[in-house]
Amino acid sequence: MFHTSAQYNKMTTNAKKPNLNKTTKTLTMQGTADYKANIAIVGAGPAGSYCALQLIEAFRENACNNYHITLFDQLDTLTTILPTGNGRCNLTFDETDFKKFASYYPRGEKFLYSILSRYSTLETRSYFEKIGIKTYTQPDRRVFPVSNSAKTLRTQMILELNKSQNLKIIKKCIKNAKELDKFNILVLATGSKDRHKLASQLGHTIIPYKPSLCGLKIKDKGPNFPTGVSIHTPDGGIIFTHQGISGPAIFKISSIKVNSTLPYTIKIPILNPDEVFEHIKINPVKSFGNIISEFIPKSLAKYIFEKNNINFEKQACHAKKIEVETLSTLVFIIEGPDGKGEIVHAGGVCLNEIDKNCKSKINDKLWIIGETLDIDGFCGGFNLQNCWSTAKIAAEDIVKTALYNQN
Ligand SMILES: Cc1cc2nc3c(=O)[nH]c(=O)nc-3n(C[C@H](O)[C@H](O)[C@H](O)COP(=O)(O)OP(=O)(O)OC[C@H]3O[C@@H](n4cnc5c(N)ncnc54)[C@H](O)[C@@H]3O)c2cc1C
Repeated sequence: MFHTSAQYNKMTTNAKKPNLNKTTKTLTMQGTADYKANIAIVGAGPAGSYCALQLIEAFRENACNNYHITLFDQLDTLTTILPTGNGRCNLTFDETDFKKFASYYPRGEKFLYSILSRYSTLETRSYFEKIGIKTYTQPDRRVFPVSNSAKTLRTQMILELNKSQNLKIIKKCIKNAKELDKFNILVLATGSKDRHKLASQLGHTIIPYKPSLCGLKIKDKGPNFPTGVSIHTPDGGIIFTHQGISGPAIFKISSIKVNSTLPYTIKIPILNPDEVFEHIKINPVKSFGNIISEFIPKSLAKYIFEKNNINFEKQACHAKKIEVETLSTLVFIIEGPDGKGEIVHAGGVCLNEIDKNCKSKINDKLWIIGETLDIDGFCGGFNLQNCWSTAKIAAEDIVKTALYNQN
């Protein structure tokens, strides 16, 4: 028997809840023999695979063996984790305050409050440690496996999955939700891009996806654009490319501006005018251009002087305040994403249709997790943490549901 959301909610408020942290033998001993949780997870990326691992653990903790998981993917398991963090896998970020953690998600912040307050970076790291993946934190607070290898993390997770007798992995693309009819619990972990077909077939609204965390095309770059040059800013590096600008600082801008109407203007501070004036005071007869080139590569300095019609060769002591201020901020008109370096997509399943346990409010046997949801974060491990956290919370809720249905 499968309960409706209303019945389930009533039960979870009125009935004694199973303790997922302890073995609750009574629940399974009282369970009816005819109910078996037959779970399909579509997508064996980080979210789907982690959900399978957490289901196996939660069922084991509740001494319940009356379940089966089928994990579908057209690709080999966890293929999509391999390129993360340039092959090193930046698996989370070292921030233990859940509200601060959630503030790194331009889409999904409020939705993640409840999820991250129950399962965040510490719990994730401790789970990985338990299955043999030690992690470390870089000075910029990004967290990586000690092996610095997405490959070893993948291998370890697959080893763990393969230990279970209750899991079958099937290499197959699910083209139609009807193929999943025989399952009584469904988890969609199909990622972003154009993979939302199943979610819409199952009744969900899809917020159109748009590339985020990508390079940006610049309008009217002008001559002598310093292609190949890179600089550092407080928000991360910027790389000048054939099409425009890229690098971590630009990825963040692309994420914040994802829904802005094109073309739009961006302003990026690259110099501190006070520091420039200090240098001018010390070297008043040096050329203004050479003073600025003490802070940024000369080809970029020449480019911004030319762009702003300022004389590169004049003596620094003749530089005007307004000129120093103008040169201190890069101003570009953005035409759109450059189609490169895009690593996540804004958009996905509308969060109004998902409850705080990642369960669908529309389809009673469905949970949706990871990037399939309309959630995306900045670079730094936030997108993977969204996968780990939503997968864990969904797994706990599924096990609760299964245990109630066995009563
Ligand atoms: C180059 C790159 C680097 C990145 N680096 C980082 C990083 O260091 N840190 C970080 O936090 N994030 C990073 N990300 C983002 C992160 O990889 C994603 O947010 C994450 O992979 C999303 O996981 P997911 O399981 O939700 O979806 P996905 O990883 O997209 O997995 C979905 C899976 O579902 C399968 N699938 C889809 N539809 C079907 C279907 N109908 N039938 C069967 N299978 C299906 C797909 O084949 C896929 O394997 C990076 C992304 C890229 C592209």
